[in-house]
Amino acid sequence: MSVGTVSEDEDGAVHVMPLGDMHEHETSCDCWCGPQEDEYGVVVHNSFDGREDYEVGSRKVH
Ligand SMILES: [Zn+2]
Repeated sequence: MSVGTVSEDEDGAVHVMPLGDMHEHETSCDCWCGPQEDEYGVVVHNSFDGREDYEVGSRKVH
């Protein structure tokens, strides 16, 4: 279960963004938050207020 917003960019990369963040995110690796791409090709965005709770549900060890 993820409480973040999942979007795909034009290259087909999946972006996970925090829900209800104070600043809007761009579906881009150039987003202001400095998103990191994980080993599955998922670009994880950082919340403006620093909470990372949304990652807990979206990142599962398979
Ligand atoms: Zn972002």
